[in-house]
Amino acid sequence: ARTDFVEFFHKIIDRFEMSKKQNIRFIRKLPKNPVYVDIDRDKLTQVIDNIISNALKYSPEGGAVTFNVVHLGRFIRISISDQGVGIPKDHLTKIFMRFYRVDRARSRKLGGTGLGLAIAKELIEAHGGEIWADSEWNKGSTISFTLPVHKEGEKV
Ligand code: ATP
Ligand code: MG
Repeated sequence: ARTDFVEFFHKIIDRFEMSKKQNIRFIRKLPKNPVYVDIDRDKLTQVIDNIISNALKYSPEGGAVTFNVVHLGRFIRISISDQGVGIPKDHLTKIFMRFYRVDRARSRKLGGTGLGLAIAKELIEAHGGEIWADSEWNKGSTISFTLPVHKEGEKV
């Protein structure tokens, strides 16, 4: 359904900000004006929930999670960055494979199945977007994805 992504994303971030137990700062860099996309809101909620949960799971106390949305003509690019352990370069594409986890011991302790990002990739691609990861080991990770802008919301 046609959705203002800015409002939609703020509401998801609000929910995490209200319930988080760690001392982690949230930094929002979102457009002031609405940007319309055509999405299955339940599925996009699932994607974003997993990315934010991962960011919190791998963040140190006192860290920051940054939310970024940029409107690039026919697409928007959404990024969620943390200051956690990071992801080694040779794992950056593998984390989108089913059941893949970087550090088995640590992952076991933190819980989860290793399916979150594989599902995210399927759902984002089904929406006509792409998803990828950037990271510097020990400095943090950024997960980014794109979504096509709704035809009637394309005014740039
Ligand atoms: P699930 O999402 O099914 O509960 P999970 O979080 O382990 O389990 P994914 O969300 O698919 O699975 O993530 C896959 C792996 O990618 C994680 O186990 C972790 O090793 C790595 N990873 C994902 N996000 C981050 C992040 N923000 N920082 C560091 N490592 C990450
Ligand atoms: Mg996960």
